[in-house]
Amino acid sequence: MRNPEEIPIPRTEMTTSSSRVLVLGAGVAGLTTAIALARRGVPVDVLERDAATAPSGRRGAGSWYRDGAPHAGQGHVFSPKSHQVLADELPDVLRQLLELGAREWSVGPSAGRWDGPTSAESGTALAVRRPVFDWVLRRVAERESLLRVHSGAAATGLQTSGGRLSGVLVGRAVVPADIAVDATGAFGPVSSWLDDLGHPRLAEPRADPDTAPTGADFYTRCYALHWPGEPGELNLGLAAGGDFGDYSCRVVPADNNTFTVMFTVPVGAANGAGESRLAPLSSPDGFQAAASSIPAIADWVDPAAAEPITGVTSLRLPPVRRGGASAMARLPGLVAVGDALHTGDPVWCSGIAVALASGLACAGAVSAARDGETVDVAARVWDAAADLAAYPACACARMSGPSAGDLAEVLAGSAPVPVG
Ligand SMILES: Cc1cc2nc3c(=O)[nH]c(=O)nc-3n(C[C@H](O)[C@H](O)[C@H](O)COP(=O)(O)OP(=O)(O)OC[C@H]3O[C@@H](n4cnc5c(N)ncnc54)[C@H](O)[C@@H]3O)c2cc1C
Repeated sequence: MRNPEEIPIPRTEMTTSSSRVLVLGAGVAGLTTAIALARRGVPVDVLERDAATAPSGRRGAGSWYRDGAPHAGQGHVFSPKSHQVLADELPDVLRQLLELGAREWSVGPSAGRWDGPTSAESGTALAVRRPVFDWVLRRVAERESLLRVHSGAAATGLQTSGGRLSGVLVGRAVVPADIAVDATGAFGPVSSWLDDLGHPRLAEPRADPDTAPTGADFYTRCYALHWPGEPGELNLGLAAGGDFGDYSCRVVPADNNTFTVMFTVPVGAANGAGESRLAPLSSPDGFQAAASSIPAIADWVDPAAAEPITGVTSLRLPPVRRGGASAMARLPGLVAVGDALHTGDPVWCSGIAVALASGLACAGAVSAARDGETVDVAARVWDAAADLAAYPACACARMSGPSAGDLAEVLAGSAPVPVG
């Protein structure tokens, strides 16, 4: 388990009034920051490189997949901390999620430590598909009168003046800004822009010791239960399944009696360097056969209990490199939130809580700075996120079950499994 103090704490003192605030990225962290700023009376523009806008009708919410956030197509646990932050700070977002069929459920102590050392051992988690969550957040943001989301506006660089941020480049145009909030996610470009501007690094980005050094493949499929309930035990507290050595698989309950099943396969371990022998997980038949062969998962995907409502969404991500927080310390006027501040192991399920908490802390600090307070914005943001970043929100216990080799055999021999 990582000690939060091992991660460099950024310092960015800021006193500013009537400043123009830009948020780069309309993911969970960027939109949370922007909504909270607008609600504090701070006008805010959000630049989002994806041109796709949210479907207007709620029926499209469950299938709103965006190129800019491909991970949002994978199964997501919404931990007790993320529920608590929504209930306390964004109750209208929580209410709308519940109206759309999201479910609150009480969870007791699990094998993992949830959301940091000071959190209660039990709490209320939220069951919702990630695209539904993103859709609600975007629609709430779009209704704020002081907030504008500019879809299809990719930020391409930074402008500085007198040693601090003065603007953000969008193609050849410069958008003046006194404060830019980097919410561009785990693989965002801001760090390299700082390098280009010649700002010395305070600390080199480093490989995350907890994640596969080679990156990982993810495969997710969404199912609908025939009847409300849980066909199998939620042995991980917030999910069912576990870590099976060279891969992990978990079931995550979601809204409207749906659930997602997600396989995580580190590249290189079960895979070999090139094409993965578990790649057939991307086919619906292979996925169904593999999921059915894992005891903790089989009861969930049994055609008598549930049917698939999507194809398989697959994604390969490079290894995560930590370094956002230290990069942000380099330029006054620039602050990072969400994955740009700290990217954790997806298996920990803590990213949403970090995005929400850091976004809210950022909005509070920036608006205090605009009111004339001398505020160390980045340090306040990090204070809000550090514990959440340092502890897993969901257990991922080592379980006995088919090895990657066993799974590869199942996949190689998988005849189409009759479903539904
Ligand atoms: C496979 C997987 C499973 C996960 N499961 C869980 C889970 O179960 N529970 C959990 O809590 N967390 C989970 N996470 C982590 C969680 O998804 C992230 O922490 C969260 O999405 C981070 O949100 P963000 O807003 O910081 O970044 P993102 O969601 O990455 O959003 C960044 C946004 O910035 C935009 N952008 C990028 N560059 C630019 C640019 N130059 N100009 C303008 N816009 C730009 C992108 O288009 C995107 O919209 C998982 C992650 C992965 C990869």
